[in-house]
Amino acid sequence: MSSYHVWTVGCQMNKADSERLGAGLEQLGLEWTPTAKDADVIILNSCVVRQNAEDRVVGMLTSLKPWKQRNPDKTLALMGCMVGPKSDELRARFPYVDVFMQPQQFEPLIRMVGDKAGVDPDGCVGPFVPGHPKVTAHVPIIHGCDKFCTFCIIPYRRGREVSRPLEELVEECRMLAARGVQEVTLLGQNVDSYGHDLPGAPDLADLLEAVHDGVPELARIRFLTSHPNDMSERIIDAVARLPRAMECINLPFQAGGDDVLAAMRRGYTNAQYRELVGRVRAAVPGVAMVTDLIVGFPGETEAQFEDSLAMVQDLRFDKVHAAAYSTRPGTIAARKLEDDVPDEEKKRRLRAIEDVQESVLTEINSTYLGSTEEVLVDGRSRGRWQGRTRSDKLVFFDDERDLLGRLMQVRITRTTPWSLQGRLAEAPAASLSFRA
Ligand code: SF4
Repeated sequence: MSSYHVWTVGCQMNKADSERLGAGLEQLGLEWTPTAKDADVIILNSCVVRQNAEDRVVGMLTSLKPWKQRNPDKTLALMGCMVGPKSDELRARFPYVDVFMQPQQFEPLIRMVGDKAGVDPDGCVGPFVPGHPKVTAHVPIIHGCDKFCTFCIIPYRRGREVSRPLEELVEECRMLAARGVQEVTLLGQNVDSYGHDLPGAPDLADLLEAVHDGVPELARIRFLTSHPNDMSERIIDAVARLPRAMECINLPFQAGGDDVLAAMRRGYTNAQYRELVGRVRAAVPGVAMVTDLIVGFPGETEAQFEDSLAMVQDLRFDKVHAAAYSTRPGTIAARKLEDDVPDEEKKRRLRAIEDVQESVLTEINSTYLGSTEEVLVDGRSRGRWQGRTRSDKLVFFDDERDLLGRLMQVRITRTTPWSLQGRLAEAPAASLSFRA
């Protein structure tokens, strides 16, 4: 048993879980392989937030059945939100899967692989921190969610909120920085409620400050995702105050109509959300705002949809993750509300949101033209360097040198709604020396 492959769908939490499980398997001596069918251990990390994500997982599981039948000694694992507290139904449906694991519950697979490899995981597996991280890394700081929005399955699959100790997180960030990471994103389904369950109840502002001051090698700190009701003045102040906390906040509004927000049990109104965005923008000049939005929620009228559209038009977000509502079995909405907006109408609403957002982004991004931006170079694409501004805008530029992981000053020469292009500003030497 020498290789593993993790296939991941879904949110950043899933991607972080996959990286961590990979770190555990590598500590047992396995190596990552890019081709699933060459691996001795295949893990599918699943998502059920939307129907198409679940369909992709089922398709992948089905396609791997002949592989498993040909290779009975190899290991197939299903992890993530598709696996509930009881996996009997999944076991009956996919009997050729060796192990089922809920999110973050890596132990059954680690034990199985340890047994097969003749290694005692208790003795040799350390903290699950990626051994070869990229320039940017995700750090889960709080698992689960206590909010129970009526459309969402996550609290039933990821459980109640459990925060990781602050000192452990600072130490993890320190380890990541020592391995070359320049930027960490502190992750949670509701990252703003971090710490309420810990002794002394530190909050996200405390954690931001502790990582900022405790790990000066990190160039950038981000966090996501926030719930509007938990976005405190202390958190806003920390973003405004800490130079290496990036001015970019992901704050889902989900719907513009007050009745729809109430049916979603989001706990705020259209006016309250707008007021919060105003406070964030007043405190953090130039902050980029990102949001999530559902169209076609059960009972959403045309007028209520227009409220969502107006929100996108008025609040001028830097990114909108819009999705058409689909019923998720097991949620409150699935039990109590009829999915009564026709699919064609959902598609029309989605297109309308996307059209408005494209014109908003055309305007926002054009304001970058001629400016010089600090860009963290995180990879190459089609022969060009790519990186992100502090506000998380994607930037492409050319240079012959190896700039991976460097903070560079880039003068923006062209903009589109989806990215910026530029050239290195004069005298980049100061930023070249940033990374050890
Ligand atoms: S805040 Fe709502 S939408 Fe977000 S994970 Fe929790 S229940 Fe789901």
